[in-house]
Amino acid sequence: MSVSGNSLLGLTFAELESVLVADGVLAHHAKQLWSTIHRQAAADPSSVPLSPPLAKWVAENIGEGKNRFIDLPEQAEEIHSSDGLTRKYLLRLADGQVIETVLMEYGGRFTACVSSQAGCAMGCVFCATGQMGFVRHLTVGEIVAQVLHVRRALAASHPHRRLRNLVLMGMGEPLHNYDAVMKAMDIVSNPRGCAIGAAHIAISTVGYVPNILRMAEEQRPYRLAVSLHGSTEAERSALVPASKKWDLETLIAACRSYSRDTGKRIFFEWTLIAGKNDSEETARRLAVLLEGIDSHVNLIPLNPTEGYDGHSSSSGRAFQETLRQAGIPCTFRQRRGIDVAAGCGMLKAAKFHNIAKP
Ligand code: SAH
Ligand code: SF4
Repeated sequence: MSVSGNSLLGLTFAELESVLVADGVLAHHAKQLWSTIHRQAAADPSSVPLSPPLAKWVAENIGEGKNRFIDLPEQAEEIHSSDGLTRKYLLRLADGQVIETVLMEYGGRFTACVSSQAGCAMGCVFCATGQMGFVRHLTVGEIVAQVLHVRRALAASHPHRRLRNLVLMGMGEPLHNYDAVMKAMDIVSNPRGCAIGAAHIAISTVGYVPNILRMAEEQRPYRLAVSLHGSTEAERSALVPASKKWDLETLIAACRSYSRDTGKRIFFEWTLIAGKNDSEETARRLAVLLEGIDSHVNLIPLNPTEGYDGHSSSSGRAFQETLRQAGIPCTFRQRRGIDVAAGCGMLKAAKFHNIAKP
């Protein structure tokens, strides 16, 4: 496997420029190479017309056996949902790890859901990725490559549409891989590249408190989504073991301080599970917990996974109504792509543990 530091996809524009300058190529050629890689999403820059000095550098430096590479993963599988609105890609990385990336269409707008780790260390009981355990962090290049993969797929099917939104809700806990995720987001939000507006990027965390605070301190321009799933410590830690490390009270205090310091709304994710966290009493407690925080609650129907025997709730409407009456905006996340096993970690689990696909 090549050294990830030599991946061109892991470089910011300024870093790419200094690589070229160090090799004696004039700085202004960096714009052309950047645009080839990130705007056009060209899989192979040597296949597109480039100015002669840049073409020479590309021929000498990029590719198999050379000192730089573009770490595009190999597509192991592509599955489309029956309504055609969700496509799921299984991507094989250089060391054989397989991750998933999803492209979703909502009312003509396209959103990518990307992974930040192979597996996840947080162990949420209902999550297929959590059930797999942690394998490794993804590199910056591997995160950026997922966005480019999806953009190429979109260009092929809808040449005039662009990828507008990005959510870090695939495999892994993005705030556990903070530096790589933040650098990858800097790269994909660059207006001369993928140009995904920072306000259209959502980072979803299980509640990794120190790095929620760090996002605020560093004034990261992205949206924050916090996966809550429980209104008391007991309710939450039964589903989210990470709550033992960063308990509910500490997490809510961190959200309060994030909200105060950034002035930004926080999206709270809530996977509804029958008999575990779906009662009206829980909804009322949640409303009290979120008092004073500019919040929006997203309710997610439970996707079935092999390792968890909980059931999807049928009292979601009452839960939603209780929150709304308390003045908290609350919507249902569409159960997108469940027929392509597009729930978090589901397709990989289905494919690699021989579970029948739904
Ligand atoms: N690790 C991050 C982001 C990835 S998970 C986080 O936990 O927030 C993205 C969302 O999918 C989280 O809200 C998670 O709780 C939810 N999720 C995971 N498995 C699920 C399942 N089987 N059914 C419904 N939602 C699930
Ligand atoms: Fe990890 Fe998120 Fe799954 Fe929890 S829900 S195990 S944090 S990926």
